[in-house]
Amino acid sequence: MSQAVGGRVVVIGAGPVGLCLALRLAQQEVPVVLVEALGADNFLEQVPRAGTNHPATLELFDAIGLYAKLEPRGIVAPLFHYWDRHENRLIAEFDHAHLRGDTTFPYVLQCERIKIVEEALALAQAHPLIDVRLSTAFTSFDQNADGIVAHVTNPDGTAEPVIRAYLVSAEGARSIVRKDLGIEFEGFTYSDRTLNIEVAYDFRRHGYTERNYISDPTEWSNLFHWKGPPDRWRVHFPTAPDEDEEAICRPEALQARLQRFLPTGKDFNIVGRNLYTVHQRVAQRFRGGRAILAGDAAHVNSPIGAMGMNSGVHDAFNLADKLVAILRGELAADALDRYERQRRHVALQHTQAQTMRNKKLLAEKDLGVRARNHGELRRTAEDPKLARAFLLRTSLIQSLRDAEAIA
Ligand SMILES: Cc1cc2nc3c(=O)[nH]c(=O)nc-3n(C[C@H](O)[C@H](O)[C@H](O)COP(=O)(O)OP(=O)(O)OC[C@H]3O[C@@H](n4cnc5c(N)ncnc54)[C@H](O)[C@@H]3O)c2cc1C
Repeated sequence: MSQAVGGRVVVIGAGPVGLCLALRLAQQEVPVVLVEALGADNFLEQVPRAGTNHPATLELFDAIGLYAKLEPRGIVAPLFHYWDRHENRLIAEFDHAHLRGDTTFPYVLQCERIKIVEEALALAQAHPLIDVRLSTAFTSFDQNADGIVAHVTNPDGTAEPVIRAYLVSAEGARSIVRKDLGIEFEGFTYSDRTLNIEVAYDFRRHGYTERNYISDPTEWSNLFHWKGPPDRWRVHFPTAPDEDEEAICRPEALQARLQRFLPTGKDFNIVGRNLYTVHQRVAQRFRGGRAILAGDAAHVNSPIGAMGMNSGVHDAFNLADKLVAILRGELAADALDRYERQRRHVALQHTQAQTMRNKKLLAEKDLGVRARNHGELRRTAEDPKLARAFLLRTSLIQSLRDAEAIA
């Protein structure tokens, strides 16, 4: 395995995290093998997931040449809203303009994961140092002090050992590497699943902005705008744990739910829907020797607050820069322990804490507590100092600053 070290890095998974990692490594002259189970024929047929990209992530996308590809396909959204559905009114409007002194991108970009991976894959395929292997399944790995062997099954069914210095699992929540290393995925799963309905309808005519968090004691929701054609809005609703999936997703049930949310008296043009389970989990360790976890392989959380992919991309850049320095002999391998300390801290203290708080805020049933929470949100939005501190947290800039301070 000694020649392995010259072979550099194998990354499993061409999701947003694996692609950003591969690009960041290759752009610093580190050759990468990027293994992805999906093929050219079905790569774009993935269910809708992430889509809100925070300022700190936009800076990183810009650094690898991805931002310029995404902006024309997304919506620049400086504002976001909290609404009270129970009282049918806007609680607070937050403006990323407060972050003008903190970032070159004082807004979020509403641009769906599928567009991000499509554009990033094209960049990766065009890069001479990235060997993109589509339709190739990673199955297991071995390692010793010198290197790592990733076992993959090629599109023609043949097995191949890919020998490299390091392996990064950007495989998503079901990471084989995490399981093979015996690393606990600590946390819990919410009993209620979330329904996502995609609607071609302009909600702005009712006062909503591109991103809306809507609290309600019985049925909280989120409402997000995506660029078309056709322009679409995604509405999230909680569902009861014992509700049958088929009953939830019946067209008349979807229409009834939407009409309760916004009574228009006319059927909505529903262009998609799916039901998903939400987990709050963080891996007990982010690495075992030369095998390292990043993104959903290391942590998963509720999408309320749009932090999963964003924080995964932040993992990718942190890890890539450390791997580059280690492979150049500028840092010792224990720099990877700092990666774990920094990114695990962010996962626990920022991403998990904030997404759980967000859900609690939206779903709060006690009318007194709701009134207090809403009053606080309003005061925060109206005070420039408080608003900036709040936005530094929601946009994950604060999480990067806190991580930088960790030795
Ligand atoms: C409804 C919803 C909305 C969301 N909205 C947001 C949002 O607005 N903002 C945000 O930041 N996050 C959001 N998230 C979370 C976000 O989608 C994930 O955090 C993000 O996709 C994780 O990226 P990843 O690259 O780590 O993993 P994934 O996106 O899961 O990608 C993993 C890749 O690895 C491949 N793979 C897996 N196993 C193998 C194998 N054995 N061999 C080869 N390849 C393999 C998969 O095919 C896939 O391409 C949302 C999630 C949901 C469900």
